[in-house]
Amino acid sequence: MLKRVFDRFRCDLAVDLGTANARIGIAGEGLVLDEPSVVAVHQRTNRILSGGCAVGHLARQMWGRTPDSISVVRPLSHGAITDFELCEAMLRYFLRKAQRPGLRLRPRVLVTVPGGITPVEKRAVFNSLERAGARQVFLIAQAMAAAIGAGLPIAEPVASMVCDVGGGTTEVAVLSLADVAASRSIRTGGDRMDQAVADYLRRHYSLRIGMAAAEELRIRAGSAYPLEEELTEEIRGVDTASGLPRRASITSEEIRQALGDCLEEILEAVRATLDDCPAELAAELLDRGLVLCGGGSLLCGIDRFLADRTGLPVRVAPHPLTTVARGALICLEHLPQWRPILQSSDDDV
Ligand code: ADP
Ligand code: MG
Repeated sequence: MLKRVFDRFRCDLAVDLGTANARIGIAGEGLVLDEPSVVAVHQRTNRILSGGCAVGHLARQMWGRTPDSISVVRPLSHGAITDFELCEAMLRYFLRKAQRPGLRLRPRVLVTVPGGITPVEKRAVFNSLERAGARQVFLIAQAMAAAIGAGLPIAEPVASMVCDVGGGTTEVAVLSLADVAASRSIRTGGDRMDQAVADYLRRHYSLRIGMAAAEELRIRAGSAYPLEEELTEEIRGVDTASGLPRRASITSEEIRQALGDCLEEILEAVRATLDDCPAELAAELLDRGLVLCGGGSLLCGIDRFLADRTGLPVRVAPHPLTTVARGALICLEHLPQWRPILQSSDDDV
């Protein structure tokens, strides 16, 4: 009876704390929040604008358009917290927004973290969430959550392989019997691709463009494999010689060339993971294949590129942007079953 009363006021949350985007789900309800992991702050005081509300979508709108006194920053870089205070403030805002108003007990939170995270970085995640209002915090590896979200049978004695291409990192893992058999976490993702596109324009067109414009261009016309019909896109930027704004046209072939190095790095991470993996599991993947998720998997033709170069069947998970968050939510909803593989803030770490 008392438990039922408590349950009415308790809500458990799954948090996918990505470098580019944060997503939150409520056990029994589904995903309730999906916002960019950014905050807008006053340079001088390092305080968040609009009384702490310039977070997520609102802050993202200001990206690249702020005067010197204001900056739009990400509290995470390559999957790890780099600005502890801002991360805590951002999480507090998101946790509050995700939960229904009214009387609430402090939630238990299951949060996803990159595979290569250090003990100190783990501590930072525990502390940030606890200070942002969590009662107890559980950690799950992003690759594990991705595999669960993609519906792979990771608890069984068969090989499942995932590759999550996010904003700041790419996580590759082969899983079997609810554990990681081999994995790689690299600092290549959408951000580095945007930087590569911007560098290309500067080098070949003497044109300077912002990261937001580079991302838009990459999403509109980027690809990893030749397109049936190649595209030409108009781009506006600032001439590096004259300092004046001007237009230029760039083709999808050129953008693909700009993305080449990043794609090779992702391929190398996949190859190294397969190489580290027991031969039986690696061989099974010839049939079972590789599943892609994360925003970067929406890059046109990345599945064909990886399939061509590895010889494995490759497919993109449905709704790849939320695969990890949905996997974390499934795990949270079956917490007793998954508890043995989760690290908790109450364990000794
Ligand atoms: P993270 O988990 O690191 O926060 P996400 O999985 O949310 O990252 O993916 C964010 C990345 O996905 C960004 O770099 C963004 O540019 C990229 N992205 C989002 N949509 C697309 C798309 N349609 N095509 C290519 N890239 C995309
Ligand atoms: Mg992610």
